[in-house]
Amino acid sequence: MSRLLVVEDDADIALALSLLLQRAGHEVEHAKDGREGLRAIHDHRPDLLLLDIGLPGLDGWQVLERVRDISDLPILMLTAHGQESEKVRGLRGGADDYLTKPFTNSELVARVEALLRRAGPASWTDDVYDDGILQLDPARRTVHVNGGEIGLTPTEFRLLNVLVRHQGALLSPAQLLAHAWDDPTGIAPERVKFAVLRLRRKLGWSDPDTSPIESVRGFGYRYRRPA
Ligand code: CA
Repeated sequence: MSRLLVVEDDADIALALSLLLQRAGHEVEHAKDGREGLRAIHDHRPDLLLLDIGLPGLDGWQVLERVRDISDLPILMLTAHGQESEKVRGLRGGADDYLTKPFTNSELVARVEALLRRAGPASWTDDVYDDGILQLDPARRTVHVNGGEIGLTPTEFRLLNVLVRHQGALLSPAQLLAHAWDDPTGIAPERVKFAVLRLRRKLGWSDPDTSPIESVRGFGYRYRRPA
């Protein structure tokens, strides 16, 4: 038995999915919008997420992006559109599979079972990072420096998160692109340089001699714990 979370605003579809997946032997929780879904993911850490794209407030794409900041749990996207571009977008954005409504019951159950079989235990990085100067909360997506909140773009947030989680390690622009950008294909490594400069400025860490985000010419960047 696996614990599944269905994020779907259509109550009829949500009920049908829940009954079907319960009959297939799983425990199913339902969230009716993106915010409720994110809370449930954070609180209950499901084994698999079924995520509708058309949701009120935070849509499925935004939920997908936020979940991928904190976990590699398997995600099956559900959509009414069925357009090829949507599919590509979903898979590039980190969805594991994609199902177009209307789908048959057996198709849905088969996809869910296949994803569960394929996925190992999910890893989670939603713990709050705090080194006394910098505090970073992936679940809420907030950053504080010396107690003051800093507003970052999603890319800047991911960039900082990946540097902090690999503290002390030198990361190349290519590695940072792969981790922090939704779709790194065709993006020049120069973009990483500018994003790091912007990030440092926002954090008040522009001075290269003291900045906790250290750049090593010709190699890349590393985060060192502020003294
Ligand atoms: Ca919907």
